Amino acid sequence: MSENLKEIVEEINKNDNVLIVGHILPDGDDVSSLVSMTLGLEKLGKKVTAVIDDEIPEYLLQFPLVKSKIKKFEDVEEIIYKKYDIMVILDCSSPDRIGRFEKYLNAFHVLLVDHHVTNKYFGNLNWVDPTMASTAQMVYRILTALNVEYDKELATMNLLGVATDTGFFKYQNAGVLVFKDATELIKKGANISDISNIILDNIPLEQIYLYKDVISNLKLVLNGQIAYSLLSLDMFSKYNVLPKDSPSFVENLRSIRGVEIAIVFQEYEKGSYHVSLRSKKWADVSKIALNYGGGGHPRAAGFSLETNDIKQTMEEIVDYISKTIGNLSGNLAYQ
Ligand code: 5GP
Ligand code: MN
Ligand code: MN
Repeated sequence: MSENLKEIVEEINKNDNVLIVGHILPDGDDVSSLVSMTLGLEKLGKKVTAVIDDEIPEYLLQFPLVKSKIKKFEDVEEIIYKKYDIMVILDCSSPDRIGRFEKYLNAFHVLLVDHHVTNKYFGNLNWVDPTMASTAQMVYRILTALNVEYDKELATMNLLGVATDTGFFKYQNAGVLVFKDATELIKKGANISDISNIILDNIPLEQIYLYKDVISNLKLVLNGQIAYSLLSLDMFSKYNVLPKDSPSFVENLRSIRGVEIAIVFQEYEKGSYHVSLRSKKWADVSKIALNYGGGGHPRAAGFSLETNDIKQTMEEIVDYISKTIGNLSGNLAYQ
């Protein structure tokens, strides 16, 4: 067991009232990690609250435990000093990712568990391992070390994050450890087809129409190596889709033959955009995200920006990437 994992486990063992915090723009790995940690620590008799300072996308709310176990900032703010001994932050690379909980960082002993290569080590105790494909696998190690007994429900919620952060076991981060951990969770009762039915085979029709418009906005540059598109508030309102419920479709753009880097600019409030970056084989897009104040992984990263002229901003960013693409190759270290 790594030294940091051991210390995290000791610290959790010692404390009975635990606040677990996830990241804004929550994804499958994050909600899986929060719910699994909550279920696991509750089995040990601890008082646990999981929180995210953002709306959870509708496709993740299809898991009843995500809905019932993850609270909002407003639910805990009043009692935050009284009720909790430690703060455990999961799947967050930088303090801004926890939203308004950032202002409480100094008030708590903070345990940080994360797998982003761009992690800023902002906890008091940090277990950061970029060779892990998902934070959910790190949670699995913590709960196993704490001798938590897995049932079908916990195993399935834990497998959710392994599945989503590896693109259902097909990205380059899907190494031996991913399949070993998935095997163990499946042996404990997790059902991958339940997860894929909820996430993959359950797309609302209006999102398919939205995808059609994303493809209409598609641009390819640098001999088709870079694909990018725009998802604007106008497009969302046309189909009555909320930005927080919509996929970015960036993985669809990456799937185009010849594309190495895919980018989608997604407007979530007027003039405010989230930029999703993906690469296929060799480009380290976390370097691009870092350059613009964001973060992420070599093959999946992102950042936010504000602009009144998105067309021009897109061109500037794509131009920057085209010019620096030669510096983006990097090695992966997944186990
Ligand atoms: P997505 O494109 O799905 O929003 O994000 C892809 C990856 O990049 C995720 O692992 C996510 O944690 C990370 N990421 C996305 N946006 C940001 C950001 O603004 N800041 C940081 N630090 N990481 C981000
Ligand atoms: Mn995440
Ligand atoms: Mn993750």
